[in-house]
Amino acid sequence: MSPTLRESCGVFGVYAPGEDVARITFYGLYALQHRGQESAGIASANGRRLYLRTGMGLVAQVFDEEDLSYLPGHMAIGHTRYSTTGSSLATNAQPIIIDSALGSLALGHNGNIVNSAVLRSDLVEQGVVFSTATDSEVIAQALVNAPGATWKERWTDLMRRLSGAYSLVVLTPNELMAARDPMGNRPLCLGKLDGGWVVASETCALDHLGAEFIREVEPGEVVRMSADGLETFSAAQAKDAFCIFEYIYFARPDSRIDDKLVYPVRMALGAQLAKEHPADADVVIGVPHSATAAAVGYSQESGIPFVEGLVQNRYVGRTFIQPDQRIREVGVHLKYNPLPDLLEGRRVVLVDDSIVRATTTGPVVSMLRKAGAREVHMRITSPPIISPCFFGIDMGTRWELIAGNKTVEEIREHIGADSLGYLSVDGLIEAVGLPKDKFCLACFTGNYPVPVPLQMDKLALEPVAGRDRHEFEWLETVPSISRP
Ligand code: SF4
Repeated sequence: MSPTLRESCGVFGVYAPGEDVARITFYGLYALQHRGQESAGIASANGRRLYLRTGMGLVAQVFDEEDLSYLPGHMAIGHTRYSTTGSSLATNAQPIIIDSALGSLALGHNGNIVNSAVLRSDLVEQGVVFSTATDSEVIAQALVNAPGATWKERWTDLMRRLSGAYSLVVLTPNELMAARDPMGNRPLCLGKLDGGWVVASETCALDHLGAEFIREVEPGEVVRMSADGLETFSAAQAKDAFCIFEYIYFARPDSRIDDKLVYPVRMALGAQLAKEHPADADVVIGVPHSATAAAVGYSQESGIPFVEGLVQNRYVGRTFIQPDQRIREVGVHLKYNPLPDLLEGRRVVLVDDSIVRATTTGPVVSMLRKAGAREVHMRITSPPIISPCFFGIDMGTRWELIAGNKTVEEIREHIGADSLGYLSVDGLIEAVGLPKDKFCLACFTGNYPVPVPLQMDKLALEPVAGRDRHEFEWLETVPSISRP
């Protein structure tokens, strides 16, 4: 997969009196590590106060036994993070804790709020002082400052004002709450643990903990766990726009979304791709590991044998030791190593999940040729990404998206492949097997499920240098589907 397409975060929460909730949260986050590798954090509560430990790095780098022992209580929330809004700083690690008239509150957020600048300035006018640059703090402050005598009233007001993508875990000294935005853009599921409840971004976290999957948290729904038991309420009108990239790339293949296991969905994407873009070839290989299932699907549909022609060093990119110039020049070889004996003289179908900036794709194609491949036919299990994501997926600006600026033939030439085929939007929907109106497809179509402020479009269209009038027209007419 292109390393330039990155997930924003993973969230987890557990309410389980009598259990070691810090340890449960640690292992929950460990299962969600693929969703964010920049920082991690756990907040716990014992009915009197909150405890917090956050740090930069992988979950296993941030926490040791001693840290977990300083996180007492019967409920906890956890977070793994990639930076979206707010830069890559330890102070932006989550969960964040804020103090308010309602008491302390910790919050972890997956997604991105498109109107956070407006909400932030409204709150500043009310006298709220912010300590981070994240939209997560905006959400937390908007929640504790919302009018209402009950959490239900506050959440209802918050969800009416927030626009964008958010799966949230929130902890007070007395309760754990989890919420999913009215689009249901980011995943969030509910499970039952012996003597308690868990919420997590993906079902794979429940599986590792031996928790029973109950159901997905509905779009616009809030789940509240406390000494009074489990309470759920709908705080906003639901209108689905689930991020289809969860099926294509982000979610772990052993997770289940909308009752569909991700791995066979990815196989179906590969099979559909083989129907739409067949190739005369000798072997199919997938860019490990996210495209492996799709490559198997392509192989089964086409009858061309699947081989593992590329081996991935799974731990590259998970270190804070910066490579020196010599190591940097090794480029994609640091991450992938081809198997020449399997490639020599072969016509290869190379399956990947996406091309974002194409900074990796060309070097991988060239690596396969150097390893002996006679032809390289690139096949992509997503449609061309032509528009930026405003909902928490870091894919850069429209200027950086190669498919936003070049034709398929120009991209083929740029990456040096013998042929290039992208899955169609209709083929993608057919392979996933769920109704089209359940999904956000904005990065493929430019049609956003909620209006995106013009100011934000401008940011996504940077850099300004070289921008011409045509680009401003696109910017001003960016299509949006306004949903009630
Ligand atoms: S724009 Fe693309 S990446 Fe972003 S939420 Fe929509 S489908 Fe997902």
